[in-house]
Amino acid sequence: MTYSPYWNPKNETLPREDLQRLQLIKLGRMAAWANANSPFHARSFAAAGFHPEQLKSWDDLRRIPFMTREDWMSSISEHPLFGDLPATDETNAIRYHLTSGTSGRTPIRVLDGTKDWDWIGEMWCYGIWGFGVRPEDIVYFAFGYGHFIGFWGAHYGCEKIGALVIPGGAQTTETRVRQIVDMGVTTVCSTPTYALRLWQQATEMGINLAVDSKVDKLILSGEPAGSIPAVKRQLEEAWGAKCGDTAGMTEVGTIMIFECDHQPGGTHIIEDHFIEEVINTESGEPVGYGELGERVVTSFGRGLIPVLRYRTKDMVVKVPYSTCGCGRTGDLYEGGIRGRWDDMKLIRGTNVYPRAVESLVREHDAIDEFQIYIWRRDNIRDEITIKVELKPGREAEWTELSQALARELSQSHEGLHFLIELMEPGVLPRFELKARRLVDARPTAVYE
Ligand SMILES: [Zn+2]
Repeated sequence: MTYSPYWNPKNETLPREDLQRLQLIKLGRMAAWANANSPFHARSFAAAGFHPEQLKSWDDLRRIPFMTREDWMSSISEHPLFGDLPATDETNAIRYHLTSGTSGRTPIRVLDGTKDWDWIGEMWCYGIWGFGVRPEDIVYFAFGYGHFIGFWGAHYGCEKIGALVIPGGAQTTETRVRQIVDMGVTTVCSTPTYALRLWQQATEMGINLAVDSKVDKLILSGEPAGSIPAVKRQLEEAWGAKCGDTAGMTEVGTIMIFECDHQPGGTHIIEDHFIEEVINTESGEPVGYGELGERVVTSFGRGLIPVLRYRTKDMVVKVPYSTCGCGRTGDLYEGGIRGRWDDMKLIRGTNVYPRAVESLVREHDAIDEFQIYIWRRDNIRDEITIKVELKPGREAEWTELSQALARELSQSHEGLHFLIELMEPGVLPRFELKARRLVDARPTAVYE
């Protein structure tokens, strides 16, 4: 059967002018809804002198005050359990989720209603259909169905498309590998880290996923690594499948961006349902195409928790839709989400971002697992060590590999010296959901 390449053929190919008109209408409605029903937004709009009726042209968007995670957190602690952000009675909620709390942040509690969940699934349909999932597909969800909202929405999206869904649930990695092979699974949804883990497990079981499984698509989410070229290359070879990156966040309940099946090296923004701005993270001023900045998201689809101009701290570079030849008119984030501004570590005056380190580490495919370990020598000097485990049988490459890696890391970090340490196999932690590969073991005491 021949299908359209687009989930929503009309909206995904709207001329930009029409798209912006549509966005302005939706923005006006969402701002009015938030102002009338969410005490959080009514308060913040009033403080900024903003009223939804002021939204007459595109530039009026900037009259809306930014919303920060800190504001949200204080609203939750002042008005437990969910803060005063919800725009309708909490009894209208049907589901509770929690942000993952990576980078040591306190998790945020979120609630969603029935309409929200319809929309959450619909957003995933844009992404998974756009990457080629069709009703004939058999989709395996390699996650535990816990507080992490990510793949819940993808699960509903796949059902909506009409694909056969297999919920992995709480099973061992070994059982999951067997199911993927035995059930003729064609598409696997997982984090990039766990897709690597599944493949390692399969190898140990004597299974070659590229040959023994029918998987031809991996849908990745939950970590920025889905757009790191070296990770993607390794996964595509190991699985004999195409890897598509997606990114979402619990704060908006679903994905905002996805990679289409043209694999243009970036992720399309679902612009008929979101406004994605990119700003200078210090000044708050907008930055242009091609410049690194912080993404700020406004969602149109979620009613219970309105999210307007939310500062995500995600690092992105926006490029025009014409960068991709698929016909979609949604702009892209080149390289997906490039990490977080608040993940930055300062080592002897040099900025180090974990994702940039991961990009270099993963270029060496003899490396099985790694950890970025930051520590203080003699209570004075900060050091950064990359702890590395090699794949079985690759030990002979260590000397050359460790020297090359130290050189590459140093060159890309203003000459900063990285220590590289070989670990015994199986010593470093393995992850199913969001990997935590950075350990900052420096003392936290501050003397003023
Ligand atoms: Zn495209």
